[in-house]
Amino acid sequence: MLSNLVATLIDNCLFFEQHCQLCGQRPCRHGLCPDCRAALPQQAEHGCPVCAADAASHCVPCGRCLRRPPAYDVLYAAWRYDYPLDALIGACKYGRRQALQGLLAALMPALLKQRTSGPDIDLIVPVPLAAARLAERGFNLPDALARAVAVTIACRFDPALCVRKRNTSPQAALGRTQRLRNLRDAFSVKRRCDGLCIAIIDDVATTGATLDALAKALKKAGAKRVEAWVLSRANDHKI
Ligand SMILES: [Zn+2]
Ligand SMILES: [Zn+2]
Repeated sequence: MLSNLVATLIDNCLFFEQHCQLCGQRPCRHGLCPDCRAALPQQAEHGCPVCAADAASHCVPCGRCLRRPPAYDVLYAAWRYDYPLDALIGACKYGRRQALQGLLAALMPALLKQRTSGPDIDLIVPVPLAAARLAERGFNLPDALARAVAVTIACRFDPALCVRKRNTSPQAALGRTQRLRNLRDAFSVKRRCDGLCIAIIDDVATTGATLDALAKALKKAGAKRVEAWVLSRANDHKI
């Protein structure tokens, strides 16, 4: 606990010079030097206008969204889930690395460049972890990402609104249909959110099944609009 606190203080203190977490060479703020940041994987130029998956056109929704429209209204991704971002996210989630958490949170507001239209967001909500997994991991990366975006756009942030009711099996090992089954009724919403426009925050979207399930729960609780904002978007075959 104390070492986490010290690491956080160092990450946020300008008097301590950091070195780039990727090349280890150049001094920088927020953990990435300008060259490594410029080399981060950008989103493809053409993506589905609903789920942001790779698509031939960005004018019409992809076949999957046409066949089964997701419960969220639109998904925006700051970056593409590819090297080195995939490695940084993996190291952060399973290695409890405070410095990486700060680095990834600083990359999140890049997403706002993708969102050039849409109504004001009333509330920002991270995708929650089940209590048992949170206890095991010690932190929830989407909380840090959500806080960074909330501060940037001066929006209300509520990490306690939604609860993950059960410890769903790890999504990475499952196919799309199994993912949807695995997530059925996985989330509950603690109070009504009638008429609110909500942005839900996650680190990676693959099939979007988790975001779909959470958006469905929020709409059931009265949300008018739910947007999914993610740090990175993967193609299904990547995971
Ligand atoms: Zn670097
Ligand atoms: Zn789509």
